[in-house]
Order: sequence, then C-alpha cells, then structure tokens
Amino acid sequence: MSDTPTIAVVGSGPIGSAYARVLLELLPHARVIMFEAGPQVTQRPGESVRNIADPDEKARARERSQGPQAGDFRESLGIPAAAVVEGMFTARQGTHLLDFGAEGSAHAPTFPAAAAATNVGGQGSHWTCAIPRPAFSEKLDFIADDEWEDLVSTAEGLLHHQSAAFSDSPVGAAIRTLLDREFGAELPEGYGVSTLPVAGDPQPDGSMRWAGADTVLGPLIEPGTDVAARFELRDLTLVRRIELDGSHVRGVVVEDLRTREESFVPVDALVVAADAFRSPQLLWASGIRPAALGRYLTEHHVVISTVSLDADRMAALVTEDELQSELARRATNPADPVAAVNRIPFSEPEHPYSAQIMYAENPPFALDPAHPAAGNRWGYVNMGFGVRKFPRVEDGVTFSDDELDYRGLPNFTIEYALTEREDAEIAQATARLRRAGHALGTFVADPRLLPNGSSLHYMGTMRAGTDPETSVADPYSRVWGFDNLVVGGNGLIPTANTMNPTLTSVAIAVRGARHLAEELRGGGTTEAEPVAEAVEA
Ligand code: FAD
Repeated sequence: MSDTPTIAVVGSGPIGSAYARVLLELLPHARVIMFEAGPQVTQRPGESVRNIADPDEKARARERSQGPQAGDFRESLGIPAAAVVEGMFTARQGTHLLDFGAEGSAHAPTFPAAAAATNVGGQGSHWTCAIPRPAFSEKLDFIADDEWEDLVSTAEGLLHHQSAAFSDSPVGAAIRTLLDREFGAELPEGYGVSTLPVAGDPQPDGSMRWAGADTVLGPLIEPGTDVAARFELRDLTLVRRIELDGSHVRGVVVEDLRTREESFVPVDALVVAADAFRSPQLLWASGIRPAALGRYLTEHHVVISTVSLDADRMAALVTEDELQSELARRATNPADPVAAVNRIPFSEPEHPYSAQIMYAENPPFALDPAHPAAGNRWGYVNMGFGVRKFPRVEDGVTFSDDELDYRGLPNFTIEYALTEREDAEIAQATARLRRAGHALGTFVADPRLLPNGSSLHYMGTMRAGTDPETSVADPYSRVWGFDNLVVGGNGLIPTANTMNPTLTSVAIAVRGARHLAEELRGGGTTEAEPVAEAVEA
C-alpha cells in the first residue's frame, strides 16, 4: 500500500462526509477525493438549506437539489431535458422521486414515494436533523455494547448532537406533561416521553443552526487546515463505474457533468456512500453483484396526523407570560416552523414504535380560516408514529442490463409489500396516535398511513452482517470478497428499525473508517473473503 494513499468517496452526504473526516484525521498522509453528482447549493459545502434565511434563495437551493425534477435548472445540472409527466405527486422539497414518471425514471409502483436528493450534502441538506439512538432489537447484534457506545458517541459528536433542544420551550414541556399523563405508566424506565435529540447548534436567540454534511466535514472545509489541504470535493461529477482488478478496486470512471468528459481516477480504496438505491446501482453497473445486493429493503412506515392544542389544557400548564415569550421567540425565526420536538422512543415490548411530536405555530397545510381550530395561538403538533418493516428477501430493488436510467446507469425496479405483521403494528400505532391526539387537543387532520417510501429512510439494500449469503458487507462495512471496497449509508442497517437512521449509519461509518484506516496503515488483520461469484464480468 502507498504511503500516501488516495481514497475516493462516492457521495457527499453525511455518511460519505463521516468517512472523509475520520480517514483524513487518522491517516496523516492520505488524500480523499469526494465525488458528488449534484451541484453545491449552499455557500458552505453541504450546509442545511434550513439555515438559509432568504426564502427565494432557500427555494432555489432546494430546486437545484432535485436532479431530474429540478425544473428549469435540470439541464444546467448535466441532466438531459425530458418530458414532464402531469399528475405525479411531488417529493418533499429538495428531493426528487425515483419513479418520477418521465423517460429514464425508475419503476416503483409499490414504493411510489421513494425519493433522493442530488446535491452536495445529499439528503443531509434537507433533513429534519432528528438523531435518536437505536434501541433493543434495532441495534446491530454483531457490535458489542461497549464498542457501540463509543461509536455512537463519536457519531453524535460529528453531528453536533443536542439532547435537550428546545427543552426551555414551555409549550414543548406542557406537551410532554400531557403525553406523560396518557402513556407514562405504560413505558419502561429510560424510554418515557422526552425531547427528541437533534443535530445542530443552538443560537443565542433560541433558534437552531441545523447540522448538515458541513458539520460532519468540519475542519476539512476550513481553509488553512492540514486536513483541508488533503481533501478535494468535486461537485457535478458522476461516478459511472468502478474498475476492478479481480477482488481489488483499481479506480473509478467519472464524468464531469459540466463538460461531459469522462476520466479514470486511480484509487487505493473506495467508499461508496451514494444512498440506499444508487450505491447498489453503481455496484451492479460495475459487475459487483452479491446475492443480497438490493434485497431486504425496509423503511419505517409512518402514520401521521395534525392536532390543534387544547387551550384549556395548555393554559393550566403554561402561564400567559410564558406563552407571550414563546410567541416572541418563534417570531425571531419565522423561516423555521419547528418550535419544539418531543418523542416517545421505541421500547420492546411496551412501545415498538418511534413517535415524533413536532410543535409548530401553523399546521403544515392551509387550514380553512372558518375551521374552529384555525388561528389557534397555542399552536399545533404534527405527529408521526414510525412503524417497523420486518426484513424479507422478497422486498428490494432489481437492476436491468437492458434499460438505462436518465443518468445512463442500469435502471431499476423496486418491489415491496407490507405483510400482516406490519399491518397489525400499523393498526396498533394508529390507535396510540389517536390516544396521543386526544390527550393534546383536537385533530385537524385524521390519522393516515403515508404511501410506501414516504419515510425517506431506506434500509437493508446493502446490509452489513456476518453471513455473505444474506449480507453485502462484512461487519466493518467492506463488501464481501473485496479488499478495498467499502459501502456506507442507511442501506447497511440490517434490522427492523422504527426511527431516523442517520445517527446509526454515521456510527457504522465510523467503525468502517477506523477499520479501513488500520488496513491502509498496513495493520489490517482480516483478509478479504473469497466470494468470487459476487463479481460478474
Ligand atoms: P445522502 O445524504 O442521500 O447522499 C448521497 C449522495 O450521493 C447524494 O448527494 C447523491 O447525489 C450522491 N450520488 C449518488 N450517486 C452518485 C454517483 N454515482 N456519483 C456521485 N455521487 C452520487 N434522517 C434522520 O436520521 N433524521 C431525520 O430527521 C431525517 N429527516 C429527513 C428529512 C428529509 C426531508 C429528508 C430528505 C431526509 C431525512 N433524513 C433524516 C434522512 C437523512 O437525510 C439520510 O439518512 C442521510 O442524508 C443519508 O446520508 P448518506 O450520506 O448515506 O446519503
């Protein structure tokens, strides 16, 4: 191995960024080149667009992240123009549907809300920043508890974890009190109603500066630091193919989307962190096709509703002065509608759901001014109960050697179904959500199950594990059968998971990066397992 190894990272989201940061800090002579297919949409690379105060600038950053659904920006992003299909539902702002309905779109009739972001920072520029820890069976059974504690604490540090965000909000506290009265006696010690941990930095005015990939990159994007000199981020650069020499990655073929020029970049190691669909797609396109690639797709299903807070119940817990100071605080940052975030975490067997309860000044939709709950000065809560999907080999993504997508990579089809097991838990979660709503006030939107794919948290398609037959990566995230190919992202999570997965994926990435650094230093202890059939010419 070279004394000055070059490591390429595909994808600039929080996971690719965690790899870049840990590797450069552990390897004083290494260089990292990060390739990102999308454009840089914020001044600071990978920053959360939620931090942009100007509404027009924010809207533009979001639209430019929307790849094939980037409207007028599409061609400037190196994506050929395509017919627009009327009647599609739109993805969350900043993201684009995978099955967007025009030429070159993926096929996902059973997973229609599946979406991605294509920009520096990836989905991490658009995320809500909730970073709960996995618990009970959500955890990875091949990582011992003491190591996990270290990994997850390191990940929390990289993401600027705040365990008590908005804990000084009196309305947020009153919401917790009411929920605790309803559910407290049923929940186990340590898993009661609490504030939701988030990623960001509280500001003196009570608002948050939300974390993105920029937070994870940290010193790598601070001019003048040693690590910044060894880090290169190339936006609008699509990795088309991984070039192999047997079970060893030689380099990558990249296309500069501004000039359309292709070039070969030799590397000593490669990290693919290009999301749970596009990472397996790149592996497949390169002839790397382990049996579990793309299989065992899971997400957490979401039952949602909006509730108008009950004035009498709130007034019994919050004084008029406290309400007035809360309203004044919210007015300082009208661009960011979230004023407090609470949760009821996953616990087994008591509460096998993750409930996220966001307090906001307005409902997320236009409420008829004649509605009795319109203009409620106490505000509203948007609630979502995350329900797990049990992994099955049948659920997943398959790739075509004959049909190309809009980027010229093998197109894919997602096949996915809920079973009686999930249906039963969804019904139970809906009943609990009704109880939570009645405890807090009146429903202004009835509980409903969102379409498949709505969570934006796609897992399992490159699962890490101990069995090469049912996993794509070994316990250190290295693709079975390869000595210098590592994968990262939510796709590695092999468990049935109810909650926001990014913290878990960053923790897994920290483990993968430490192990890769050890190997690149020549101190590796594990040989690549020969899984020859995984490589197809
Ligand atoms: P991504 O952030 O998706 O980044 C992957 C990048 O790879 C993309 O920028 C893509 O353009 C690039 N790429 C793909 N293919 C190629 C290629 N061939 N060549 C070069 N580049 C390529 N998670 C939570 O834990 N908590 C939350 O509260 C939360 N809220 C969310 C809210 C929204 C609206 C959204 C959109 C997401 C949310 N998420 C949340 C999910 C979270 O953002 C993701 O888990 C996280 O961003 C995943 O990081 P990643 O680095 O694996 O992938």
